[in-house]
Amino acid sequence: MTATDLFIGGVWGPAASGRRFDVVNPSTGRTIASVADGDVQDALAAVDAAAAAAPGWAATGPRERAEILRRAFELMIARSDALSELISRENGRALPDARGEIGYAAEFFRWHAGEAVRIGGSVSTAPSGANRILVTYQPVGVSVLVTPWNFPVAMATRKIAPALAAGCTMILKPASDTPLTALALAELLTEAGVPAGVVNVVASRSSGRTVAAMLHDPRVRKLSFTGSTEVGRRLLKESADQVINTSMELGGDAPFVVFADADLEAAVDGAMIAKMRNAGEACTAANRFCVEEPVAAEFGRRLAERMAAMVVGPATDPATSVGPPVNQSVVDKVDELVRDAVRRGATALTGAGRLDRDGYFHAPTVLNEEIFGPVAPIMTFAGEDEAVLLANRTEYSLVAYVYTRDLARGLRVGERIEAGMIGLNRGLVSHPAAPFGGVKHRGIGRGGGHEGVLDYLESTYIATTW
Ligand code: NAP
Repeated sequence: MTATDLFIGGVWGPAASGRRFDVVNPSTGRTIASVADGDVQDALAAVDAAAAAAPGWAATGPRERAEILRRAFELMIARSDALSELISRENGRALPDARGEIGYAAEFFRWHAGEAVRIGGSVSTAPSGANRILVTYQPVGVSVLVTPWNFPVAMATRKIAPALAAGCTMILKPASDTPLTALALAELLTEAGVPAGVVNVVASRSSGRTVAAMLHDPRVRKLSFTGSTEVGRRLLKESADQVINTSMELGGDAPFVVFADADLEAAVDGAMIAKMRNAGEACTAANRFCVEEPVAAEFGRRLAERMAAMVVGPATDPATSVGPPVNQSVVDKVDELVRDAVRRGATALTGAGRLDRDGYFHAPTVLNEEIFGPVAPIMTFAGEDEAVLLANRTEYSLVAYVYTRDLARGLRVGERIEAGMIGLNRGLVSHPAAPFGGVKHRGIGRGGGHEGVLDYLESTYIATTW
């Protein structure tokens, strides 16, 4: 039985208004659940619960928090099949991708079980020798976590796990297209031993006013947001009133750079992962293929061949490799981008249209020109400088991929590209043990690695003499 109510203070219940909203399966266009529609009153009740639970949770031993995180990891792996199916049903993700997300999401719990017991501090002597400098860390406090629909579980665990490890309490506001997996996560965390009030989940169709109300409550000290740059900017402004500590994981525009000396088969394999993991609905998705002139035609031909061979179908069908985009407006946007590019002279090497069937399907597409979707545009360059120029032609600098057999060039180009992460001869960079995040308009802060838990801690410096 799928949980569909709000989860506040360890209790499941309807929204104060009694309103509910529908969750639609993008593979069929049909409603699969009706979820309690939280609003300002519910959000503030969740802040009450998180604030009440905060002192107790902050005071628990790190070992206890670590063991709860470890149990959450184990429960998630044990429920991988059911959770994967839930992701496929509400998000449209093909089952192999959904299973991959569960493995990735669970790993945040296991990684942060280790981090919880390694939150250190430091003691040093001031350069003058006059006093000692002690630095200790405390949980930042009540945290508001806002997540997108494209990785409904992993984006939640990337926030919840470090927040739990650090000793913070929280309110999760999942995307309204995909609230079911976030609610299932609340059930799992309760079973793992998370006390009442530590993790609260408020799904809402009125995200703007619901989140704003929490950000204006002085008990809230942290906002961690993953989503579009447009909404992120708005929330940074909302956070200014209470000077809230913010982490922002915003939109990406990843270049995938292939030099002529690259192992072309490996580059195409990497391109398929970087572009088509999660049907292109990933902030790390390769958005632009920049290929050195001598190999551009061959790379395009091989990529188009692999894209054309993908099986588009209902997400829960085991034969499917690409499911539908999450909703009607995403498929409309992908379709419009492709039509516009073709109007402006781009040629489709494969695909280029929505599919005539129930649900929201679009064909995997390769364009020989300059998208969130299963569409791969290819541009050419001549030489290293032009490759770097093309790659840096964006404000959304999350990740870049570089394929070359020349390691020195790969490292050099990797340093010159303005991005928070580089995939060097790899089409997949995301890992809970590594600091995930970007530069420029792509955001603030890092999720994962040791940096992830630091995002939920404040330091206290104690000056003393002994
Ligand atoms: P979105 O429209 O920005 O929504 C993200 C979250 O914010 C959802 O929970 C949404 O709720 C909520 N929201 C929307 N408007 C809001 C407002 N005015 N105030 C407060 N909350 C608000 O993004 P999306 O379409 O779900 O996700 C796609 C975007 O996420 C892409 O740009 C992608 O690149 C980015 N992303 C980034 C990362 C990363 O790590 N950098 C990872 C994944 C995705 P509703 O669902 O109710 O609108």
